[in-house]
Amino acid sequence: MAASTNMFSYKETNNWFKACLALKITKDGLANFLKTELQTAHTAVGISCGNCSTEKLIPCPTLPYCNKRKRHYCPFHKSQKPQQCFRCDQVKQNITLHHRYNTPSWRNTDAKKWTSDFWEIGKCFLPPDGYSSVLSVHESDFNGIISIMLNCTHFQNCLSSSCLSPPPPDRRSPLEMVLVFQARESY
Ligand SMILES: [Zn+2]
Ligand SMILES: [Zn+2]
Repeated sequence: MAASTNMFSYKETNNWFKACLALKITKDGLANFLKTELQTAHTAVGISCGNCSTEKLIPCPTLPYCNKRKRHYCPFHKSQKPQQCFRCDQVKQNITLHHRYNTPSWRNTDAKKWTSDFWEIGKCFLPPDGYSSVLSVHESDFNGIISIMLNCTHFQNCLSSSCLSPPPPDRRSPLEMVLVFQARESY
């Protein structure tokens, strides 16, 4: 107990706690805004069929998903083979067009839920890996929320141009600076 009491008297530890708290409060504050705007973006990308899995909609090979070590075996497509679907391909294309770098995070999203769940569209704008099991905006971390706002061009209509100026990719863009700062703080 004595050890933990002492811990709080260190300035560095206190600053670290304050930074964590500030990230949590900011994230909670942005979550409802993100939710509302993602619902609008969800409508804009169109309606998929609801039967196609993400694997079906990604041609083989597509880097970085299909990292084939064996010639006739793709670990990404092991259970679902690529197949064209007019409706889902259209939605997929619209998601790509909404992505600032044209590189949606397909591994994070479940295409079967694209029509029923706006969050599955939002997940396409998250960092490439590690978010597939995150079930809602509120479960996402600060990094995820800022990444969506940065990567999804819909947010250009909602944010002051000073937040995105100079336009990403540019480390002087305030939203990108926030991500760099957060990455530094978590080490
Ligand atoms: Zn489909
Ligand atoms: Zn493949």
